[in-house]
Amino acid sequence: MSETARRQQAIAAAAKAGVDALVITHLPDVRWLCGFTGSNAALVLPVSSRLRPVLVTDGRYTAQAKSEARGVKVVIAPKAAAIAASEWAAKSRLRRCGFDEGNTTVAALKQMQAALPGKLRRGFFAPIGSLVSTLRWVKDKQEISRMRAAAALGCRLFDTIFDHIVPGASEAEVSLALEYNARVAGATEMSFPSIVASGPRSALPHGRASSARLPRRGFVTLDFGVVLDGYCSDMTRTVHLGRASAEERRVYEAVLEAQEAGVAAVRPGISGGDVDEAARSVLRRARLDKWFTHSTGHGVGLEIHEGPRLAAGQTQKLEPGMVVTIEPGVYLPGKFGVRIEDMVLVTQTGAEILTPSTRAWIEL
Ligand code: ZN
Ligand code: ZN
Repeated sequence: MSETARRQQAIAAAAKAGVDALVITHLPDVRWLCGFTGSNAALVLPVSSRLRPVLVTDGRYTAQAKSEARGVKVVIAPKAAAIAASEWAAKSRLRRCGFDEGNTTVAALKQMQAALPGKLRRGFFAPIGSLVSTLRWVKDKQEISRMRAAAALGCRLFDTIFDHIVPGASEAEVSLALEYNARVAGATEMSFPSIVASGPRSALPHGRASSARLPRRGFVTLDFGVVLDGYCSDMTRTVHLGRASAEERRVYEAVLEAQEAGVAAVRPGISGGDVDEAARSVLRRARLDKWFTHSTGHGVGLEIHEGPRLAAGQTQKLEPGMVVTIEPGVYLPGKFGVRIEDMVLVTQTGAEILTPSTRAWIEL
């Protein structure tokens, strides 16, 4: 789908929400709708076809906006793009503009309102939720191929990291090796600070790589992702150094079974809550659910965390083209933790794993 088609989708949603235009300031949304990747950008997307969409940015980005932005008029203004876009909207006789209150700070909204003539301020900006971000949940063909490439790079990084996972190496060294290899392979950055959590630290679901040294015996959890062509990957594997205890093996097998049950549940029409339950119920049967302290997964795309959420109570149904993670974990405080995470594409009939690196037990 081209940016034009994406904009038409957004315009239709804006018309339904009863606004004249959208003022889009969340950068991943701006990028998705017109291709521009600069750090100061706002897009005004009028519902009426008489007005062209306008991308506002500043002088640092004149050349970049010209080469990247497609199908929009570019306006260069030496100020915050959201403010300049608000001024432009008022001048263009727009009177009611939708904004994403989930991604706009109170301070930013105040500044946007202050940019309007006094008599227009009341009711000019209407909160319409994260309307564009929600459209991004379903990926088009081009996005899916980019996500496949990002996920495949993540797998290559995992498949070649074992030389670095040795007792005495620091978590930071492992993380750095992942990142170095990622950058050499073309990733622009990691999609979040890598998690390398070893020994008792593996019980920390968000144990960022630290100066801690890998133990002779114990788990090492690696949770990392790359950004390739703008799209994020996200995967987790937990490997074991040295001989494992029976309890460690049992927990690993239970998490693996839960993860496989979660993946198997993914298909069009199932709710996020039901996918979560599919994974969680396996850990409940193993009497480990008490230690599964987060949700089962999340959407991923231009942002590392997007919708839909796969969590208890989520009624949002999955649709073909969504890319979600399935990542149950069990964390025994002070002892150890295990998490296994894949990226999964919702297909017409079920699901396809985008991160096929082995999930089987690995003892190094
Ligand atoms: Zn992850
Ligand atoms: Zn994740």
